[in-house]
Amino acid sequence: MKQKPIEILKERLHEVSHLGATLALLQWDQEVNMPDKGADARASAISYLSAIVHNKFIEIDKDGLLTKLKKDFDNSEKKSSRKKGEKLSPSDKVIIAETWRSYEREKKLPEVFVKELAEVSSKSQSVWAEARAKDDFKIWQPWLERIVKLKRQEAKYLSYKTTPYDALLESYEPGMTTEELTHVFNDLKDFLVPFLKKIKSSQIKINSKKILGQFPIEKQVAFNEMIANKIGFDNEAGRLDKSVHPFTTNFHPTDVRITTRYRGNNVYYSIGSTIHEAGHAIYEQNLPSEHFGTPLTEAVSMGIHESQSRLWENQIGKSLSFWKYFYPRLQKEFPEPFQKLKLEEFYKIINKVEPSLIRTEADEATYNLHIILRFEIERELVEGSFEVKDLPKIWNAKVKEYFGLTVPSDKFGILQDVHWSGGDFGYFPTYALGNLYAAQFYNQLRTDIPKLDGQITKGNFGEVNKWLKSHIHQHGKTYTASQLVKKVTGEELNSRYFCEYLQRKFS
Ligand code: ZN
Repeated sequence: MKQKPIEILKERLHEVSHLGATLALLQWDQEVNMPDKGADARASAISYLSAIVHNKFIEIDKDGLLTKLKKDFDNSEKKSSRKKGEKLSPSDKVIIAETWRSYEREKKLPEVFVKELAEVSSKSQSVWAEARAKDDFKIWQPWLERIVKLKRQEAKYLSYKTTPYDALLESYEPGMTTEELTHVFNDLKDFLVPFLKKIKSSQIKINSKKILGQFPIEKQVAFNEMIANKIGFDNEAGRLDKSVHPFTTNFHPTDVRITTRYRGNNVYYSIGSTIHEAGHAIYEQNLPSEHFGTPLTEAVSMGIHESQSRLWENQIGKSLSFWKYFYPRLQKEFPEPFQKLKLEEFYKIINKVEPSLIRTEADEATYNLHIILRFEIERELVEGSFEVKDLPKIWNAKVKEYFGLTVPSDKFGILQDVHWSGGDFGYFPTYALGNLYAAQFYNQLRTDIPKLDGQITKGNFGEVNKWLKSHIHQHGKTYTASQLVKKVTGEELNSRYFCEYLQRKFS
């Protein structure tokens, strides 16, 4: 029997996914196992394989298969002309529409460009690491200039209506525009700046040193695995490893890898990032395996992905109920220093608010300001409003304005993040969006599960996971981010729930 066109498409997507998983495995290995000297060889292997993945994906329409399916799709959307073409199920429609969207973008990028960008950004990352170690922006500057030029070029290839930043943002948060983002972020800024001033002037003093001690790494690993497991990470369908920057990667819903980082004197340092990455991983593990390779087994957007990690890390993982359950276990495992420290005090320490220079160490209240600062800068940089050489000056002025802090040197300023060196312009906003989506989802979750706090106090996370799976995870890319938020919470994305959450917690 002749195979249906939609089945052939699925088969082709499946093949591309195998290549994509291979690429992801190389990248995971680079961060977790690879010896330092392997960097150059790995960069060229990754660049070569990236081009193959790109070409293989473009080839799905080599005989016009996707174009024909897209026509069937368009016809089925028009109610009047329902005559010709295959009958398409709702899930087939999602597969076609989403594959078409990615295909349209991908085919606009010439292969030589894809290769050049992969190679330049891979090399730029090691130059950035050197510049950061030597605390010298000048070393990295020429590489960043190349990257910015390439990203402006990419935006041109992809085409855009109002600003080139829109074209880049689309890679991470499909459907989001610079205009909407500016609007949401301005609302947020109007709340955050005065809110932080109030906190800064408060008289409450918290001594965070009380949670420091000596924590053997093997014991930390075991504790982190226990927490990840307990909250819902399936360790038979994943692994927890160690890397410099924590991350999550997935090859299939049955094989999702997370990493964390350890500090011998601070066990919470690893716990916070493990809970964060476990939140990402639970999402990936809950995507429907039966549609592997298709958009139905892909996350909605980076922002929605981030909402899942933030919800676990912050709303749940930094709550008093959560630690009512885990703190006695922490005390038992690490009597020094926790035996003498009260739960309430531990809770205050892990929730301490303090303006700081480093984004990855920022608390819940100041974090979004770090993002808004980066968004404003990268948008203007891509638009060409200023040049790379002026970056440190612009960065430092904004830090002064938003946090009232002076940047002592570029290591604590412009050189702290890896993103721009890897060409990830448009990525930062998804972190702040994640915080907003998380607060909005969590507000709904609390309404839907009135006994939530009691369950968390007992270490019972079954219902939370069931809710997240049925409302968010299992749909893959069936809905866009804005459709999903509307469907789950009944409202458009807005910063209200996040601001209310901060006020409730920190007032
Ligand atoms: Zn994350």
